[in-house]
Amino acid sequence: MAHAILGGTFDPIHRGHVECAVELRQRLGFSRLDLVPCHLPAHRDSPDSSASHRLVMARLATAGIAGVGVDDRELRREGPSYTADTLAELREALGRNTSLTFVMGGDAFNTLQHWARWKSLFEFANVVVMERDGVTCQPAAEVMAYTEPRRVDAETITAQSSGGFARIALRPWPQSATEVRRRLQAGEPLGDWLPEAVLDYIREHRLYL
Ligand code: ATP
Repeated sequence: MAHAILGGTFDPIHRGHVECAVELRQRLGFSRLDLVPCHLPAHRDSPDSSASHRLVMARLATAGIAGVGVDDRELRREGPSYTADTLAELREALGRNTSLTFVMGGDAFNTLQHWARWKSLFEFANVVVMERDGVTCQPAAEVMAYTEPRRVDAETITAQSSGGFARIALRPWPQSATEVRRRLQAGEPLGDWLPEAVLDYIREHRLYL
């Protein structure tokens, strides 16, 4: 068994998230990949959507996709979401030997040095960085120094239970949640950027207006 999670705000979940999750699971051989919506930081610009709406939309977007689901543990915890705590919890649940991988986008990787206890992520899990369309990967020097010696091929990362690091280029997807929110507020078309069930849910609940 090889478990993986992809953290994010998913405000809202969009096609880029879903397609990346499916490709990651297939290419890296995860038996399960869960999206983990986090608490929103209080200082975020509105409009945004409550935790329960973000969770429902993530569930709608992944319904029926084999091996891809949603883990709501960060929304069930009080206070801010720290990935280090989430991975510690999962490691505890999975036991020492099961492979666990945390996936993040290249934009998130560029600010990893500011995350709480970021080095401990590698104690509990492997870390995979997926390139993001239009984003240059420029990690901080201290992050490079820590991750490069741990580097393995992405395709073989599940052979380790934790401590490995890999980068992977997936099929590029242009979607971003910020742009989705902007278009919804401006009443501009979204094309196929959102799964149909998610767009229906947003319209029904009049979100992001
Ligand atoms: P925002 O536009 O508000 O930054 P987002 O689209 O990045 O939102 P998040 O919920 O923050 O949405 O994304 C969760 C994770 O998925 C992040 O690590 C992010 O880098 C990654 N991600 C989001 N969209 C894409 C995409 N189109 N291609 C690759 N990775 C993506």
